[in-house]
Amino acid sequence: MSDEPMLPPIPAIGDVLDRKKNLVEKKHSVIKCGDCKADFSREFKPGDFVFKKLTDEECEKCQQTNSLTIIEIYSEWVDPKKKS
Ligand SMILES: [Zn+2]
Repeated sequence: MSDEPMLPPIPAIGDVLDRKKNLVEKKHSVIKCGDCKADFSREFKPGDFVFKKLTDEECEKCQQTNSLTIIEIYSEWVDPKKKS
């Protein structure tokens, strides 16, 4: 019998962090122009939702400002350290 206190095992946190990839979620909104029928994507902005009408942005193709609707929102995981 020994009087030594039992120490909890120390987890190897550094090892786990080193291996885990630091990915960042990047959201995009796909916008369709009702005027020229073009669709394009841009970075997601707070307040965006599918079927939202954008009245304060202009179409990349025809510069209309009253025909844009968000048709899709998607996200991808990117490595911020990697230059794309
Ligand atoms: Zn357009």
